Amino acid sequence: MNKNKKVIEVKNLKKYFNVGPGLTLKAVDDLNFYIYEGETLGLVGESGCGKSTTGRTMIRLYDATAGEVLFEGKDVHKMSRAEHKDFTRHAQMIFQDPYASLNPRMTVGDIIGEGIDIHRIMGGKERMERIYNLLETVGLNREHASRFPHEFSGGQRQRIGIARALAIEPKFIVCDEPISALDVSIQAQVVNLLIELQRDMKLTYLFIAHDLSMVKHISDRVAVMYLGTMVELASSTELYDKPLHPYTQALLSAIPIPDPNIERSRQRVLLEGDVPSPINPSAGCRFKGRCRYAKDVCHQQMPELREVGPDHFVACHIV
Ligand code: SF4
Repeated sequence: MNKNKKVIEVKNLKKYFNVGPGLTLKAVDDLNFYIYEGETLGLVGESGCGKSTTGRTMIRLYDATAGEVLFEGKDVHKMSRAEHKDFTRHAQMIFQDPYASLNPRMTVGDIIGEGIDIHRIMGGKERMERIYNLLETVGLNREHASRFPHEFSGGQRQRIGIARALAIEPKFIVCDEPISALDVSIQAQVVNLLIELQRDMKLTYLFIAHDLSMVKHISDRVAVMYLGTMVELASSTELYDKPLHPYTQALLSAIPIPDPNIERSRQRVLLEGDVPSPINPSAGCRFKGRCRYAKDVCHQQMPELREVGPDHFVACHIV
């Protein structure tokens, strides 16, 4: 990881959806963070917390409601058509569902080659060689290029999705829950492949997931989201060893520990109640309705994300 270069920087990013008269769904509400070159930032939280919307807004699959996403210093949401086309060469996405994200009518070779064709990077024999190389890079083989997606297993399809994302040699990849639709036995293989590719190609990842144990394995730093806001951000080791936000503590305490003696004796922090609606959220901390430490101030003021230790940020009035 190169700590002297931020590949992507998010400043006061908001993404709201109008969902009816006077109803605003605040999917992403004032996020601030950056990712260094060659780094993996894990983004975790329960479903509906806005993590996928964040990833999609970062690469302009959604327009931002407010704020900036700076890619190598340029705001992705203010780029001209030509600049944006160039940006799409450098920023790619690996989708959650390897079944739905591949066009069933296209051969694997054409799926992987689509980006090469759109950006007119190369053609003919050279293009096919690139496709064969990519298939081999992700652990498939060149004969697979003429086959169709339905002929592959879930893990193999995700490898095709990864090869497609790599085809135009991007710098930044949003991995949107790339393993959650896969069998547990295949998940580690795909994560290890992503780690290897990052090392070889100096890739920068935003790795979105709700499986906290896998996020720890792949991430340099981890950010925790709750209802559109970021509640904690720290290095992976620090966050797992010393979680400070009550929500992070609850999420981590839900992960089973493989040692039955420790598992039997440890205290779990149970999350009470359901995730509240992100539509027109009330004032104060978004977590107040489920937090056992909530005080008056939590109902009135939204806590800001503050640095409470070296590179450890928390948004909570009591930390
Ligand atoms: Fe709990 Fe208050 Fe901290 Fe929110 S700000 S997490 S309600 S203690």
